[in-house]
Amino acid sequence: MSGTVVMKFGGTSVADAERLKRAARRIVAAREEGNNVVAVLSARGKTTDELVGLAREMSDNPDPREMDMLLSTGERISCALCAMAINDLGHRAISLTGSQAGIVTDTSHTKARILDVRADRIRTALDLGQIVLVAGFQGVSTTQDVTTLGRGGSDTTAVALAAAVDADVCEIYTDVTGVFSADPRIVPDARKLDVVSFEEMLEMASSGAKVLQLRSVEYARNHGVRIHCRSSFDDSTGTFVVGEQETMEHALITAVAHSTDEARLSLLGVPDEPGAAAKIFAALADANCNVDMIIQNEPLEEGRKAEVSFTVPRDDLRAAQAALEPVAAELGIETIDAVPEMGKVSIIGAGMKSHPGVAAKVFQVLAEERINIEMISTSPIKISCVIAADQVPTAVRVLHGAFELGADGIVAEAPIGEQAR
Ligand code: ADP
Ligand code: ASP
Ligand code: MG
Repeated sequence: MSGTVVMKFGGTSVADAERLKRAARRIVAAREEGNNVVAVLSARGKTTDELVGLAREMSDNPDPREMDMLLSTGERISCALCAMAINDLGHRAISLTGSQAGIVTDTSHTKARILDVRADRIRTALDLGQIVLVAGFQGVSTTQDVTTLGRGGSDTTAVALAAAVDADVCEIYTDVTGVFSADPRIVPDARKLDVVSFEEMLEMASSGAKVLQLRSVEYARNHGVRIHCRSSFDDSTGTFVVGEQETMEHALITAVAHSTDEARLSLLGVPDEPGAAAKIFAALADANCNVDMIIQNEPLEEGRKAEVSFTVPRDDLRAAQAALEPVAAELGIETIDAVPEMGKVSIIGAGMKSHPGVAAKVFQVLAEERINIEMISTSPIKISCVIAADQVPTAVRVLHGAFELGADGIVAEAPIGEQAR
C-alpha cells in the first residue's frame, strides 16, 4: 500500500503564477512516487495582509465573523489556481475549503481552535486517486460559520489533516531551509537545526519564531505527527520536529527567538484587595486577549495601591483596552498606560535546566548593549525579556553571538589525517 503525505506551502512559496506552478510540480512529483497527497496552501504572498487592510478601510473595529469570511478567501484562491495547474500536468486535483475538508472549530472568530477533523471527503477523493488541495488557515464552527485559525494557521491545518489521514509525514514547505538557531533574516550566520524537540519548538513558537505556528506544534505533539520543515525552493533536507528522546544533541542553548509585535499595558492605582487581579484578567480572557507576561508591584504599605503591567500581542491592544475600561471604572483604577512598540527576545535550550548562570549571562550581554529589560519571564528551558521593539534585532544578534549558536560556533572535528598530530 502507498503512503500518505501532507505538504503545506506557505505564502511566499505560492506568491505568483510561477511559484504556484512550481508547488504544483512538487505535489505531482510526490504523487508520482506513489503517495496519496493532501496539499495545504496559504494565501499568496501578502494577500492576507492586504485583506486585513481592506477591512480597516471599512471599519475601525470590523466584525470578527465578517473578518473571517474575508480572510478565508485568500487560501481558496491559491487552491483553485493550483488545482488548475495540476490538472494541466495530467493529474486529477480537487480543491476544498476548510469547511468542505471537514475542519470543525470552536466559535472564536479570527483565532479559532480545531475541535475535530471529519476527513471522509478527503479519504474518498484519495481513494479515487485524486490529489486533494485544502485551503489552509480556516474551518467551520460548531454554529456553521466560517472561522480562521490565527495568523500562520495553515501550519495547523496541515498538521491536523496529517493526523486525520494518518500521514507518514507533514511537510511544511517555506522560504527558509528549516528551523534555525535564530531568524536567518536577522542573524546571517544562524545554524540550521537538523532536529528540534517538541519541547524546544513549542517555546520557540510561543516566543515569536513564526516559522511554525504554535498550535501546529502542540497539535503535532498531542497527535504524534512527524513535522518536516523544509525549503520550497530546493530539495535539501530541512528540520524534523521530534520527541525529546530522539534529539541527539543536548546543547545548553538551542536558539534565540524574538517578536517585535508586543504591546505593554500598565494599570496604575489598582486597589490592594483580593480579587482585583482576577477581575482584570477575567475581562481580558473574555475578550479573547492573549496575555503574556504579567508583573504586579505590591504596595509596601497596607491600603496603598498596586501597579499591574502585562504584555499582549499588539493586534490585541485595542480589544484589551476596550475590555479594561469597565473594570477600571469599577475598581477605581487611576490610569491605563499603553506602550504599543514593545518586543521580546528569548533564549531557549533544554540544557539550561541543569545549568545555572544562563540568566545572569543574558542580563549582562543585554546590559553591555545598554538594552533596558522591562520584564522577565522564565520557564525551565526559556528566558524571555521584554524590551523596546527597535532594540530587538541587536539583542538577537548579541545573544546569538554570546552563546556561540552560529554555524561558526560548532567546532569541527579534525580531518582524519590530522588527528594524530
Ligand atoms: P510561510 O509563509 O511559509 O508560512 P512564515 O513567514 O510564516 O512562512 O515563516 C517563515 C519565516 O520565519 C522565515 O522567513 C523567517 O524569517 C522566520 N523565522 C523566524 N524565526 C525563525 C527560525 N528560528 N528559523 C527559521 N525561520 C525563522
Ligand atoms: N494566510 C494566513 C496568514 O498570512 C495563514 C498562513 O499563511 O498560514 O497568516
Ligand atoms: Mg507561516
